[in-house]
Amino acid sequence: MGELDVFEPGEILTENGRILEVGTRTGEADFTEENFGKLAIPGLVDAHNHLVYDGERIDEFEMKLKGATYLEIAERGGGIRSTVNATRKASKEDLFLQAGERVFYMLKNGTTASEAKSGYGLNLKDEIKQLEVARELGEKFPIDIVPVFLGGHDIPPDLEKKDYLSLLEREIIPEVAEKGLSKYFDAFCEKGVYDVKDVEKMFRAAKENGLKLRLHTEEFSHMGGINLGVEYKAVSVDHLLFADKGDIELLASSDTAAVVMPSVSFFLRLDKYAPAKEIIDAGGIVALGTDLNPGSSPVESMFFVLWLAVFKLNLTMEEAITAATLNSAYVLGISDLNGSLEKGKKADFIVLNLSDYREIFYRPSETHIDSVYKEGRKVINSQNVGYFPTIGI
Ligand SMILES: [Zn+2]
Repeated sequence: MGELDVFEPGEILTENGRILEVGTRTGEADFTEENFGKLAIPGLVDAHNHLVYDGERIDEFEMKLKGATYLEIAERGGGIRSTVNATRKASKEDLFLQAGERVFYMLKNGTTASEAKSGYGLNLKDEIKQLEVARELGEKFPIDIVPVFLGGHDIPPDLEKKDYLSLLEREIIPEVAEKGLSKYFDAFCEKGVYDVKDVEKMFRAAKENGLKLRLHTEEFSHMGGINLGVEYKAVSVDHLLFADKGDIELLASSDTAAVVMPSVSFFLRLDKYAPAKEIIDAGGIVALGTDLNPGSSPVESMFFVLWLAVFKLNLTMEEAITAATLNSAYVLGISDLNGSLEKGKKADFIVLNLSDYREIFYRPSETHIDSVYKEGRKVINSQNVGYFPTIGI
């Protein structure tokens, strides 16, 4: 993770959306070439993202700034439940339009592939609705979207936990898997939500139905979810603020990636961040995501996450870039075609008005994006950011 291949002067040759050649420039400089003299880096990949939801929670944010507690916010109808209620009521079209706007900001900030979790439906109909919107976003926008079924996000407002667990097992997990709406199952292991035993029940059902596993864990307390994730060969365990020494060693000896989202600590104004640097130093796989969601990270920009990774997680610049590209593509199961500039992969890259990639971090108040390319085609031009050729909405 600590080393990048830098070609200077370099060149990228693309054909039919794929990279034909990448490496050190051969031959004479040609000033008429597209993007001559600029810097190109791989398109960013967001490994953890809840972009399909209805409504923002800005009033709740203001209440928090004025000192309201979690309980007071819940009593006034805020919190994750409010997003569940709103998302259940929203039509597919409305969810698509709202999420589409978020996708535009993601692309504008150089994200060319992302996860999109469900988890605000918490019943069969509305989980499927969210997953279908996620799929449609990937079809209509110039971005790769990996839908992830977050069936274990919370306890539904209208069911007892044990009844929902059995509904998941008997009905929702098999149906989502059979319809091919997601290759992944995800849950939230936390006090007051699901403990390790609950998650294990869901993991068994998901595995039986051929789904790969991911898990939100050790976010606000130490739950033992990393142990469970590694035992069940989960693709990733995510958040990890409370990961301890034993967890770090376990992750280092496994193929389970640690997905960290420093924008959550930043937005919630916590002093605590995930021990990402320690996990990397121990030999673990670390990937980055925005955790885009209305409650704890209304953040579309992976550049913002890159900056926090360096300034708050103490990653080196090279580690941060690897975590936001190739490693996040690994988590999403798309690293064969995404996540790095290599022959045969998709020609997804960001052109920056910089001459040295270290300036991304050295001058962190701007992304310095000139343009964004998806499969060889310019989809964002900073001179004219409204330019969106592919969508008819
Ligand atoms: Zn999440």
